[in-house]
Amino acid sequence: MSKQRVKWVVGNWKMHGRLADNAALLQSVAEGAGAMADAVRIGVCVPTPYLAQVQSQLAGKPLAWGVQDISTYTHGAYTGDVAAEMAVEFGATLAIVGHSERRAYHAESSELVAAKARRALEAGLTPIVCIGETLDEREAGKTEAVVGGQLDAVLNLLSVQEAARIIVAYEPVWAIGTGRSATARQAQEVHAFLRARLMQKDAALASVALLYGGSVKPENAQELFAQADIDGGLIGGASLKSQDFLAICAAAKAASHAG
Ligand code: PEP
Repeated sequence: MSKQRVKWVVGNWKMHGRLADNAALLQSVAEGAGAMADAVRIGVCVPTPYLAQVQSQLAGKPLAWGVQDISTYTHGAYTGDVAAEMAVEFGATLAIVGHSERRAYHAESSELVAAKARRALEAGLTPIVCIGETLDEREAGKTEAVVGGQLDAVLNLLSVQEAARIIVAYEPVWAIGTGRSATARQAQEVHAFLRARLMQKDAALASVALLYGGSVKPENAQELFAQADIDGGLIGGASLKSQDFLAICAAAKAASHAG
């Protein structure tokens, strides 16, 4: 099944970057990405003030870009929020929704995340829907109940045609930014569960891309990406270093050829 699905590697810069640093990072990532664009879809999700910079620097390059959150509204009195259409005006095609840091620090519920995913699709963006359990939830044996519930909230709101256009990122909260990745086996187990859940909704959802995120590094990327139901990665810290990010993209390319 993994043979037919294309690999993805998407960087999540979080709240990092300054104009000069971004320029150097983007240049070197864009240069390195060219050689892999046939086998791997590569993207970066940047802080919204840098969308114009990314648009001008990546125009015509084989890289997608996007944002890390969007509003559920198109416009209005929502101070500080950013509409999906605003990101689209800067050429964005991706929007992370429901990152665990948004769920934890901004109290985002799974229903709100689902509404953001739908809004992204309506505006023409591909939502990368993040789901994942905390360490306590894993240790209590609740991983499948938690990630299944987070995914169901999205699947319950979207039509099958809409759901076929999302990307899902499984990001165990205990692995994000901690240096402690899930093992390839742990990640594959959850991805297989998520794949089955998608197919239970409709067979057409078998090809939804399922990314793993959480302390992916050049050293562990290839083993993770070689798993049958892991279609690539959402990369935080390592996406800020071009050498590491490109090595992870190369691992995705190698895994796609091996698959
Ligand atoms: C993330 O923030 O989505 C992430 C996966 O972070 P890190 O790779 O740093 O664990």
